[in-house]
Amino acid sequence: MTTTDVVGPAVAQAREAARWWGGLGFNGRRSRLLAWKRHIAQHIGELAALVAEETGKSQDDAALEVMLAVEHLDWAARSAGKVLGRRKVSSGMLASNHVATLEYLPLGVVGVIGPWNYPVYTPLGSVSYALAAGNAVVFKPSEHTPRTGQWLADAWAQAVPGEPVLQVVLGDGTVGAALTWSGVDKIAFTGSAATARKVMATCAETLTPLVVEGGGKDAMIVAADADLEAAAQAAAFGGFGNAGQTCAGVERVYIERSVYQTFLDKLGSLAPGPQKMTTPEQPSIVRSHVEDALARGGRAVVGGIESVQPAQVGAVVLAEVPEDSLAVTEETFGPTLVVNPVDSVDEAIRLANASKYGLAASIFTKDSHAGTAIARRLRTGAASINAVLGFAGVPSLPFGGVGDSGFGRIHGADGLREFSRAQSVTRQRFHAPLDLMRLDRDPKAMARALKLFRFRHGR
Ligand code: NDP
Repeated sequence: MTTTDVVGPAVAQAREAARWWGGLGFNGRRSRLLAWKRHIAQHIGELAALVAEETGKSQDDAALEVMLAVEHLDWAARSAGKVLGRRKVSSGMLASNHVATLEYLPLGVVGVIGPWNYPVYTPLGSVSYALAAGNAVVFKPSEHTPRTGQWLADAWAQAVPGEPVLQVVLGDGTVGAALTWSGVDKIAFTGSAATARKVMATCAETLTPLVVEGGGKDAMIVAADADLEAAAQAAAFGGFGNAGQTCAGVERVYIERSVYQTFLDKLGSLAPGPQKMTTPEQPSIVRSHVEDALARGGRAVVGGIESVQPAQVGAVVLAEVPEDSLAVTEETFGPTLVVNPVDSVDEAIRLANASKYGLAASIFTKDSHAGTAIARRLRTGAASINAVLGFAGVPSLPFGGVGDSGFGRIHGADGLREFSRAQSVTRQRFHAPLDLMRLDRDPKAMARALKLFRFRHGR
C-alpha cells in the first residue's frame, strides 16, 4: 500500500468505531479518556524524550508541552457532558406548548492534521476535544514528528483497547491531502496559511467543514509604566523559547519610547545561545527575514546574520525595523524579535493590528484597566496581560485566530462545540389554544395572535 492508500481504510474503520464511541455516552467516554490521560501522565518521561528527539527541543520543554496537553485532555473529558449534553431551553411565546431541547451530537469522524512544533499539545487541542465530543479521529501528524503521533495512538490503543477510535496515518502532505478528500465529517487543520489555503480549497470541493489554526505574528505591547524586568523575561521566553517556533510566540514588540532602551538592555542580557531548529528549511527563512530587516535600515542589537546557521540559530534582536519588512509582516518562526519604539500605546495598538495575522498578543502595564482596554482593541483571538501565553494553559478558554491565523476555535466549550452539531428538538405537549400552524387556521385565532404580537413587540 502507498501512504495515501491507508487513509480510506482508516476512515472506514473510524466510521465503525465512531458508532461504538458515540453510543457510550459522556460517562463512558469520560472514563476511557481519563484512562488515556493517566497513561500519558504515567509515561511523560518517555513521551517527552521522543518529542525532544524529533523536534530538537529540550526534554524539559517537551515535558511542559505534555503537561499542558494533559490539562486540556482532562478538562475536555470532564466538561463534555456539561457543555454538550441535552438541556431544556425556553420555548418562547409562539411555541409555549412545546418543550424545546438542545443537544450537541458528534459529527462522526474528524480528520486532524497537525504541525511539528508542538506535536503533542497542538494536535491534542483538536484530538482530545473531538474525542470528548463523541467523534472518532484519524490523525495525520507532521512528517517531521511521526513517532510522536504514533506514540499517542499506541497509548490510546493500550488505554482503550478494542475499537480504533483514534488512528494515525503517517506520511507527507499527500497523506494530509488524502484525508481532506476522504469524506470525513470535519477537518481540524493546524499549520501554515499557505497549506490552509490548499486544505480549504479541497474542503470547498467536498463541502467538508474546517477549523484552521494558522500561524501568527504576535505583538507584545509594553506601556511606559510596565514592569520592564517581567516584560523582558516574557519577551525572551515568548520570542526565543522553542527556538521561536511557537505559533502564538512573540515576534514583534512595540514599546513606549521612554522605556525602550532600558527594555532592550534587559532583553539583550536574556538572549539564549544557538538552538537547533526542527526542520532544515526553517533557518533559511529566518535568515532571509534578518537580511531584509538589516537591508531596509533595521539594527541588529543582539546577534545578526551570522547567528543564523543551518544547524543552529542564535537569538537575534532587531530594532527600529521598518514596518514593511519581512521580519514585521511575515511569520519568521525563529528565535528573533523585532523591537520597535512607539510614541504612544495607541500607536502600538495600530501597528499590532496592521498585520494579516491575528492569533494572540501580550500586554505589559501596571494599570489593569488599561491592560483590559488594550486587549479589547486588539484584532486577535487571545491576549495575555502581564505574562506571555497565559491563555495556553487555561483549558476552559477557547483558542484560535482571525485573518491568516485561521478561523474556528479549539479548547474550551467552543472547542467542544466545534466538533459537534447542534440539534434542536421540540416536543408538542398540548394543542395550542391559538394554533396558527395549520391550513384551516381560525381567522379569529390569527386576529387574537396579532393583538398579542402588537402588545408584545409593537410598544
Ligand atoms: P504546514 O502548513 O507545512 O503543515 C501542516 C500540516 O499539513 C502537516 O502535517 C503537513 O504535512 C500537512 N500538509 C502539507 N500539505 C498538505 C496538503 N496539501 N493537504 C493537507 N495537509 C497538508 O505547517 P508546519 O507543519 O510547518 O507547522 C508550522 C505552522 O503551523 C506555522 O505557521 C505555525 O505558526 C502553525 N501553527 C499554528 C498553531 C495554532 O494553534 N494556531 C500551533 C502550532 C503551529 P507534512 O508536515 O508531512 O508536510
